[in-house]
This record gives sequence, structure tokens and C-alpha cells, in this order.
Amino acid sequence: METIKTIIKSVKAKDSLIKNECQIQALLTDSRSLTHPIDVLFIALCTRHGDGHKYIEELYKKGITNFLISKPIPGFAKKCPNANFIRVDDTLKALQDIAREHRKKFNNPVIGITGSNGKTIVKEFLNQLLRDDLQITRSPRSYNSQIGVPLSVWNLKPSDQLGIFEAGISKPGEMETLERIIKPTIGVITSIGSAHQENFSTLSEKIEEKLHLFVDSDCIVYNADDKQISAGVCNAGLDGRCIGWSRIDTSAPLFIQSIVSDEDTTDISFRYFGMEQTLKVPFTDKASIEDIIHCIAVILQFRPAVLSKKERFMQLDPVAMRLELKGGNSGNTVINDSYNNDFNALEIALDFQKRRARKADTRKVLVLSDILESGILPETLYESVAELLKECEIDQFIGVGKDLCKRKKLFADIPQTDFFESTPDLMESKVLDMISNSCILLKGARQFKFEQLCDKLSRQIHETTLEINLQAIANNTLFYKSKIKPTTKMVCMVKAQGYGVGSYELAKTLQSTHIDYLAVALADEGKELRERDIDLPIMVMNPERSTWRMLFDYRLEPEIFSFGILNEIIGRAAATGQHAYPIHIKIDSGMHRLGFGPDDIPKLGKILAAHPEVRAMSVFSHLAAADDPSLDEFTHNQIHKFEKASKELQSYLPYKPLMHILNTAGIERFSEYQFDMVRLGIGMYGCSPNKIEGLETVIKLRSTILQVKDIPAGEPIGYGCLGVHDKPVKIAILPIGYADGYRRQLGRGVGKVLIGDHLCPTIGNICMDTCMVDVTDVPNVTEGQKVTLFGDPRLTIEDLSSWVGTIPYELLAVLSTRVKRIYFKE
Ligand SMILES: *Cc1c(COP(=O)(O)O)cnc(C)c1O
Repeated sequence: METIKTIIKSVKAKDSLIKNECQIQALLTDSRSLTHPIDVLFIALCTRHGDGHKYIEELYKKGITNFLISKPIPGFAKKCPNANFIRVDDTLKALQDIAREHRKKFNNPVIGITGSNGKTIVKEFLNQLLRDDLQITRSPRSYNSQIGVPLSVWNLKPSDQLGIFEAGISKPGEMETLERIIKPTIGVITSIGSAHQENFSTLSEKIEEKLHLFVDSDCIVYNADDKQISAGVCNAGLDGRCIGWSRIDTSAPLFIQSIVSDEDTTDISFRYFGMEQTLKVPFTDKASIEDIIHCIAVILQFRPAVLSKKERFMQLDPVAMRLELKGGNSGNTVINDSYNNDFNALEIALDFQKRRARKADTRKVLVLSDILESGILPETLYESVAELLKECEIDQFIGVGKDLCKRKKLFADIPQTDFFESTPDLMESKVLDMISNSCILLKGARQFKFEQLCDKLSRQIHETTLEINLQAIANNTLFYKSKIKPTTKMVCMVKAQGYGVGSYELAKTLQSTHIDYLAVALADEGKELRERDIDLPIMVMNPERSTWRMLFDYRLEPEIFSFGILNEIIGRAAATGQHAYPIHIKIDSGMHRLGFGPDDIPKLGKILAAHPEVRAMSVFSHLAAADDPSLDEFTHNQIHKFEKASKELQSYLPYKPLMHILNTAGIERFSEYQFDMVRLGIGMYGCSPNKIEGLETVIKLRSTILQVKDIPAGEPIGYGCLGVHDKPVKIAILPIGYADGYRRQLGRGVGKVLIGDHLCPTIGNICMDTCMVDVTDVPNVTEGQKVTLFGDPRLTIEDLSSWVGTIPYELLAVLSTRVKRIYFKE
């Protein structure tokens, strides 16, 4: 908490307008995260993804009265008469200044963690190990960026005894800023990998940059067996203050004597200045063990007594890194958040739910277990929880656990509540069966075993799933945004159910990356998005005469490709009293699909100029061969024709329509012709038509082995008896066939699937609902084992398309809707 006066001083404001004194409790940078407007300072950031100043009026209407901005105050003050404004040159820098000044007041230890992998896990493990002894504030989830770090550090309270913060960087120079905000007294550098390597020339440059975080730290923990990190530490002159731990070097301050795993636990034995000890932990994977050793090293520095509380190590909870979103029964969506169950995490999960739940039709349901080991008095804790649920307008609350049962009264304001002492009690009741058309958030401490609830609520008819990484979609979109100018607008193509991915989830994700338009093929698809509360402008590429009404009713903007369609839409617009109804003019520049020819332009220009009922928002064309260098002359010719036709059209109009011609392949190879807007399609889904590097895999098709069989030599397999082998083979049968979109051409060894590390060819013909694969060479195959059909670096959708002579677009578009979509954010 800081007064507005202190903040003005911290940020060295150029200008301010203060109507009311105020104590700032919370900082807000993302307008969509608002829950409670009182005593909030909104910081209008200008980033690659958007401009926060756009949301000021809207936030003012919702009750926010403090704004930190970088544009002149008077324009905003007029529209928001009772608000306080502080103006600076750079709002991001101001946010960082605020956090830095806040940090200066805090005198207790602060742990700073950096590295490529494992930051969040080390942070969460340290929190789990120390929270019973100390009051701790830590970064929520993985808030480790130039924005996330100051927001996290701002949460430090005077009563805290320890802060734990992550720092992540993507470019040289960033760590210095983060260092000044976090000022770690103890540092941890986890592993260094190639993530975000693109902006660094060498790995050692990146290590050097990361080590900036520790210039003033008293001690630094690292893995001394990692040669590059060790060298970096030496070069930076930090070795005097370091605790390198080693498995090889017996003279290391912390020597790891042995690591011995059985089925699911591991004993870690170590020696520290003559003291020897063994700790048992409930993990066996290498990454978790390293993360725990980092924690041991930190604790040795800072609270060695905790090492004698061996039970805490056995009670470490695995840290799930993602919120899982699943399609459920009865129109429900299920968000399964087993990350952890403290107040902070609840706040973040509710924010996620709020964004997902559609305002119109979907209710918000929360199933919450008792919050254990929070370090806060239960009375105070559950009062805050109840307050938070009210702010988030939860429609139905289901409390599980004795503590919650005792405090039913606190939740009296929520329209519908149910309480159960235990998870089995809830399972036995009919309460879950009655929920429909809701977005259900499951948030339970581990011992409440909420996985059962998740299984019960999510559909389990078909064992084949399409896993969709929404974060990768957002990242890919930003990747293409970085290839165009910040002022160029972007349309995202979500036609054909978002290339098979599911257009609603996609649209919802894209809305948060601040793109400008969505485009669908049919009016029906647009209607569906509107009904589910997508409010971005939507283009309809193939409007049909029977859907005019729907267009107007749902504010869908048609593509106009002929005079017939143009005259009809003008007639309709006039009849319903429209003014400047947005339409988009399609020019045929040589692909010879839909569109006006160059000769049509004068007539078209005159009609548009004479009819203010409609307005050509944009004029565009489509490239036929932007991915084929041998046809570049043709492509240049298309672009030239388009430019000429659009300029000519403009000369007739009293306004200027946006011009656009580039699709994904075009953005990759012809970005000089981006004009005012580009249209992104397949690239968003992770497929680069020109095989450029940098995209993330979005879609993974997976299935499960139904049965494993040994087939003697000479026996046929499948329809047509075509899978005869001259040796005995072992086959696995999978519940996926051509009715799911797994093409029949992939049969008889053309296609392969990935089981463990093995690529297994199909065997026999693909059936309608099943197929068979050869698993003779795969050790220990079992029923129920997971199989990947595509979406792995070893088995890409491009591989499959080339095997059957098609393109990834087709394979995605034919995926049946019966394949259950699972959405998640990494
Ligand atoms: C589908 C489509 C796109 C996107 O094409 P990609 O090759 O997937 O990038 C762009 N423009 C129009 C008119 C389209 O129909």
C-alpha cells in the first residue's frame, strides 16, 4: 500500500491531476483482470500487444479512479472528471520504479530465482518447505517478466518474513532492471537451456546476462557440475559468494554423495561442511531431484533447522504447471486446477475462469476444498475468500471440507451453495449431475483428490483426444505480429471451426492477443461466436443470401465479391435503416476464385460512393502461390494488380478502406506488401508454409491402446485381409479411424504413430472407428498406453500430409467433432 503522493514521487511524474487523496492497494495493468475497483491504480502500458490507454474510459465507468498514463492528461480528465491522473514518459518504467521504491522498504531476505527451466518449481518447493515457519510472498504462477516482476514485488507486505521471486528474460539488458526491483539477498540459477536464445549470440552471453541478477546477493546457489554455468560464475567474479553443489567434486561446499531411487521415492544423501544427511523425497525424475537440491542449498544458507523436518520433504506436492480446460457433460466446461490451493492461486484461477465463462449463458461454478496450511487465521482467510467470490460473481459455490462446512454463513450472498465434509460425500450426492451450461472451476488441495470430480465431469465417451495448446496459439500469433509493423492490423482466420481446432476457444484466446478481426466462412459460424460473447469484429467470407438477417442481427461483416451480392446487401441495409454498415470488397487479382475483376472497379466505386448505407471497411485480395518461389513473378503480378485496383477504387470514395492481401505464406515471404492489414491462418496453428523456424506446436492428436495381440505369421489383419505378414507380429488396436479424420490412405504402413519412443507403422486397412499398428519392436506395450498420432517433433502433421499427398489444412479440417478437444494453457 502506498499513497498516491508517494507514487508521484517514485515515478518522477511529469504532470499530475489529483482530485482525491488515496491509498493505492493494488496495481492493474490488464483491464480484463479487474475484480474490485477500489484503491486500484491502473497503469496504461503500451506494448506490442496493445495500448492500455484505450481502456481508461471503460475502467472509469467500472469505478477505477486512479490512472498512470503517458499521454496528455486533459483529454482523459474531461471524460473521467473525478479521477486522479499521473503522467510519465514511459509507463512500464514507472511501474518498475514503483516496485523498486516499494522493495527498498523491505529489510527481510529475498530469494531471486533465474534460469531457463525449473524456476517456478524451485519457487513453489521452497514455499512448501518454508511456509510453516515464515510468512512468505512469492511470484504468482510464473510472473517473471518485465511486467510480472514489478507486479509480484508490489505484493510484499511489511509483515512478510521472506520474498521469493522469479526473473525471466528474453533480451540482453533486461536483467539489470529486474535486479533493481528484486534485489535478491539469496540467488538461485537453475538450468540454462535454449529458450529465448534467439536474442543472444551465445549461451555464455545469456548466462552472463542472467547472473546480473545477483550482483548484490550475499550468496548464489548453482549446479557446479554444469560447466557453462560454473565458467559464467567465475567470469562474473561471483565465485567467492557461491554455493556450487556437485555430484562429482568432493571438495564442493555441498557435495551430493548419492541419489538412489526406488519405484517412486528417492534418497538424496549430501555432505555440507562435514555434516552428512539423507533426505527422502517423493519424486524420481531428474529435473525434480535437481530442483530439490537447489532448495536444500538455499535452506542450508538460511534456515538449516528445516532440514531436520524430514517429513516436509516427503510431503512436497508436484507442481502442475498448467490449468487444464476440458469439455464436460451437459454443456459444461471444466477447469481443473491442481496447481495448489492457497489464496493467491485461487485469485488467479478465478481470473482465468472469469475470462473463459461467457457472460451471456454460462454460469460460473466453483468447487473449492478447505485451504490448508495458509498461515492465515481461518476466520480471516474464509472471509476474504467469500469476499472474493462475491466480487467474481460466482453463481454456484460447492465447498468441500470441515473448515468450509463450519463457515457456511459467510457465503450466504452467493445464489446457490452446497457444502460437503469430504469429496466422497460430494461424489455420492446428485449435485454435480445437476450442473449444466456452466464453467466449473475445480480447486482442491491435493489430499481432497479432486481428480475424481474432474473425471466424473468431463466426457469420456471416446478415448481419442485433440490436445490444443492455447498459449502456443497466442505465441504463434505474436510471432507473426512481430514480422509486421506495430501499426499493421491483423485478421485471424478461424473459418471451418478454426481449422478444426474449435473456433470459440480460439477466438477467446485471440481476443486477448489484441488482434483486430476474426474471419469465418459462414454466417452461422459468426453467429455462434457472437452468442458466446465474442465481440471482436467478424468478417464472413462466404455470405449466403439466406443469411442476410443474421448478418445484421449479429453485426457480421460480409465479404462482397459480385454486383449481385452488393446490390442485395445495399437493398437490405437501406430497408433496415443502416448507416455505413461495414462490408469488405474482394478483388480477384489472378487466383480466379471469388472477387471483382479490375474492369469492374469504376462501376463498383460509383455504387459504393452513392450508397452511404454501406461502407467498404476494407478491400482485399488473396494470393494463390505465396509459398512457391518458382511462382514469385505471378505473385508480384497479383500484388501489383491488387494495388492498382484498390487505389482506383479509393479514388471514388470519400473515405479510405484498409488494404490487405497477405496470408500466412505471404507474411513470411512478402511482408513488404503488408499494406494496412494481414490475414493469418495456418501459421497460427503452428504450420509454416515455408518451413520457417520459431513456431510452437499447437495441436496434438492422441489416442489410447485398446488391445494388444500377437498374430502368427501368415494370418491376415483387417478388412480385405491385406495385412498378411511372413513373420509373427504384435499389433495394437487403437480407437481411431477414418470417421475421426484419420485418413484411410494412412493404412497399410503408409502412416506411423508414436508409442513411447517408437514410430509404429499402421498395419492392414484403417477402419471406420479403429485402426491397427505394428508394435512388434516396442518393449512393454500395454493396453491403456498413450499413442500420439501427430503433434510431436518426431511425428508432425506435415509428415502425415506428405505421406498421403495432401496439405496440413486438409488433415485438420477433416478431424471429426467427436474427437474430444482438450484445451490448455502452458
Ligand atoms: C483461409 C484464408 C486465409 C488464410 O490462409 P493461410 O494460408 O491459412 O494463412 C487468408 N485469406 C483468405 C481469403 C482465406 O480464405
